[in-house]
Amino acid sequence: MAQLGTDAAPLRVAIIGSGPAAFYVAERLLKEQGTAVAVDMYERLPTPFGLVRFGVAPDHQKIKQVTRVFEKAAGQPAFRFYGNVEYGRHVTLADLHRHYHQICFATGAQTDRRLGIPGEDLAGSHPATEFVAWYNGHPDFRDCTFDLSGTRVAVIGVGNVAVDVARILCRTSEELAATDIADYALEALARSSIREVSLIGRRGPAQAAFTNPEARELGQLPGADIQVVPEEIALDDVSRAALAEDDTETQRKLAILQEFVGRPPAGKPRRLSIRFKLSPVEILGDDRGHVRALRLVKNALVQDGDRIRAVPTDTFEEMPVDLVFRSVGYLGVPLPGLPFDEKRGTVPNEAGRVIDPATGGPVPGCYVSGWIKRGPTGVIGTNKPDGKETAEAMLADAAAGRTLPAPEPEQAACERTLARRRARPISYLDWRRIDEAEVGAGAPTGRPRVKLTSLEEVLALLDGTPAGGGA
Ligand code: NAP
Repeated sequence: MAQLGTDAAPLRVAIIGSGPAAFYVAERLLKEQGTAVAVDMYERLPTPFGLVRFGVAPDHQKIKQVTRVFEKAAGQPAFRFYGNVEYGRHVTLADLHRHYHQICFATGAQTDRRLGIPGEDLAGSHPATEFVAWYNGHPDFRDCTFDLSGTRVAVIGVGNVAVDVARILCRTSEELAATDIADYALEALARSSIREVSLIGRRGPAQAAFTNPEARELGQLPGADIQVVPEEIALDDVSRAALAEDDTETQRKLAILQEFVGRPPAGKPRRLSIRFKLSPVEILGDDRGHVRALRLVKNALVQDGDRIRAVPTDTFEEMPVDLVFRSVGYLGVPLPGLPFDEKRGTVPNEAGRVIDPATGGPVPGCYVSGWIKRGPTGVIGTNKPDGKETAEAMLADAAAGRTLPAPEPEQAACERTLARRRARPISYLDWRRIDEAEVGAGAPTGRPRVKLTSLEEVLALLDGTPAGGGA
């Protein structure tokens, strides 16, 4: 038998997921000199790129250009894409064991954290992640509805997702019309009556999770005046004592927010407030069971070990709102056949090697990358070193002969498995056709693309069947 990692017997790797965490692993594996690696990437959705397509805000097109790096990896002959193929349904762990020497899971964090307060499930209270997926044309969320007929929205949390949601709600129709936001969202937001958007942080400005360029952008919106409460922006003693002299990033953040204090309103159609040191304790409903207000408690900040924590005072505030977006972080979900750390929402691992908590040893041939490995933190670029670490663990294990036996490594055997499960895989060549059609549809109106938002539309394009005609 030919030696593994040669052209006659390449190291066969399956990557589950096709977001940045998946592509950075593929890119590093395919770059390896002296080891032939074949990468098959499986994606549940019809299109690749995960959160670059469905998470990155439509008014942040530049960030999406990272896909050029991924396209380069995908263009290599040793790379294959199987879109519209779901792990656990069309392909199981046992199947992957038969066909691959190594398996890397890069499935992200697919659900949202909850607040755990009364009223969280009232009509008009939504996870921000659903709104983001909706306006980005995610097939699973295209049919969600958000009542934008009220005037006031609260976004709980001050991370970059909360900022994205607030910004999209404050963008003018003209601004949104120049993006690749889903068509139905463009229409719904054009009809929106929202006038006041409040971002609500439980700790102070020095602890705000949003990054500085995102904070600065909030003060530059053509359609919304920015507003802060001077006492909430002022640096408290605990934060001042903890702020290191060389922490220029936080100092810059504070300066950006300080600059908002003295700004007179310019009479723009919307108002965007950033509030701090407030925690929601209850979402209050009206007699129809719809959100009508937020009950908030003012917090004080205390040093607790190496973290500054918010502790409630006995002062409360009621904020009338018509809509609430809860944006307090994503959460990973368990994968069939893999160990899972429920508390962290991640798969236990060491440098990307999946660890069996029962033995403390590595699960042979099984790896993770991205949010399912480290939790939902960091920006897209964070996944590059993270993916490299996982890929290098995989290559080191392969070099040491620690791989799965993969008794049926041929592509044909693998594709027979998919056919048996009635999968209708979408190839990378198919994706190029989808991409071309989307970009072409955007061109006449100057949009970067008009997204196809359902599998039916995608198959109609690829197979020439009419959309709505039971593809
Ligand atoms: P995040 O950055 O972890 O922010 C979560 C926010 O929720 C924090 O403000 C946190 O406050 C707050 N929070 C958590 N539990 C809470 C509770 N019980 N009550 C009130 N507030 C609570 O998460 P994210 O915004 O979902 O973003 C996920 C990752 O994607 C981040 O790394 C982010 O930078 C990245 N991302 C980047 C971009 C970009 O680069 N433009 C865009 C979107 C997302 P505490 O700090 O007090 O815990």
